[in-house]
Amino acid sequence: MTGTVTNWAGNVAYAGPVRRPDSPGALRALVADSARVRVLGSGHSFNRIADPGADGVLLSLDALPAEVDVDTAARTVRVGGGVRYAELARRVHAHGLALANMASLPHISVAGSVATGTHGSGVANGPLGSAVREVELVTADGSAVTLRRGEERFGGAVTSLGALGVVTALTLDLEPDFLVEQHLFTELPLDGLDFEAVAGAAYSVSLFTDWRDPGFRQVWLKRRTDQPLSPFPWAVPAKVALHPVPGMPAGNCTRQFGEPGPWHERLPHFRAEFTPSSGAELQSEYLLPRADALAALHAVAAIAGTVAPVLQTCEVRTVAADEQWLGPGYARDTVALHFTWVEDETAVLPVVRRLEAALDPFGPRPHWGKVFTVPPAVLRERYPRLADFRALARELDPAGKFTNDFVRELLDG
Ligand SMILES: Cc1cc2nc3c(=O)[nH]c(=O)nc-3n(C[C@H](O)[C@H](O)[C@H](O)COP(=O)(O)OP(=O)(O)OC[C@H]3O[C@@H](n4cnc5c(N)ncnc54)[C@H](O)[C@@H]3O)c2cc1C
Repeated sequence: MTGTVTNWAGNVAYAGPVRRPDSPGALRALVADSARVRVLGSGHSFNRIADPGADGVLLSLDALPAEVDVDTAARTVRVGGGVRYAELARRVHAHGLALANMASLPHISVAGSVATGTHGSGVANGPLGSAVREVELVTADGSAVTLRRGEERFGGAVTSLGALGVVTALTLDLEPDFLVEQHLFTELPLDGLDFEAVAGAAYSVSLFTDWRDPGFRQVWLKRRTDQPLSPFPWAVPAKVALHPVPGMPAGNCTRQFGEPGPWHERLPHFRAEFTPSSGAELQSEYLLPRADALAALHAVAAIAGTVAPVLQTCEVRTVAADEQWLGPGYARDTVALHFTWVEDETAVLPVVRRLEAALDPFGPRPHWGKVFTVPPAVLRERYPRLADFRALARELDPAGKFTNDFVRELLDG
């Protein structure tokens, strides 16, 4: 590849070229022969988490066979380390099976998503990584290691920030195919909000605001048709199709107005064949205890005049407690406050700092793949099992081949 390689958003440039081994043997040899390696998934993170630094190898799994092996009897799928959700979902659906949840977009790689704790929404839905039952790695000396659900080390295996090795395959739980309807509402006030009732009103619920008014401009309810349709008396049914970012075309979004459709064409907000979100943006997200949702929303409302000028949209979702040691929802039912900013780091970073100060009393854990400035020492306090993760990383990668500045600062300070 020639030219500068950047992440999807264009705010991170990588120093070296991307290396693309085309066989498992070539991958193992490249890893064994390199001093420092980071894998680039689909590049949808907004910070330097994937960056190997100037002397490291940036590895893509694009040229390896895109394995998607569905086991209909066991209701599992084994998926290659470079495969994206769009392809995985299409193949799983073709077998009459489903993933429990998806993120807002299907464009992202599975391995890269679960490495950063990527999630959708739903009070009973864990992050996407909660579906993972096996992680296959190529470790520092080129040898293969498999970590399985049920063994102690699995707590660090999924949300691994890419620090354990190259994830060459993941095995995920599936369930029978299901249909989903999207019911959209507008004008949900923040005043008097019964957060628990609203967040639990459907299988997956998202609230959107631009913080120009104290309330939510949009509510997206994703109802499984095998679950009851709850009344939603708090807001006004949408009269037109909507995009979460004001001014963007609703045609880029999945079908609304309660039209039932397969899970993978309703759980993401954005359709695979279009640019997701606005396409010109930065993103941040903070995950904190769900019990503090209302207080945290009021804390953001108190600085709305600072937040709104650099904001395209803010999304509020819920995530069920996670067992991954570095999972942003580790051991606590979570509310996730997401911010799609304008594409201007100089204007956005001071607002990010102000927002982090406002949310600090709630001990927020930032999304690993988005923009944040919370110091590593503070993050270490917010992850009670971080020392266990550090020990696992040292066991599998004693020389730190898969670390980079991002990981080193977090683990070692
Ligand atoms: C428009 C948009 C919408 C988004 N919506 C959501 C959302 O709804 N919910 C949410 O939680 N997040 C969301 N995100 C964030 C996104 O899900 C994460 O940044 C995720 O990590 C992206 O996956 P990726 O493959 O692009 O990862 P990358 O950014 O490429 O990599 C992320 C990390 O994973 C590692 N990695 C990737 N592949 C491998 C592998 N095979 N082996 C070892 N390590 C690997 C990388 O080294 C890096 O550390 C969104 C991002 C964008 C741009």
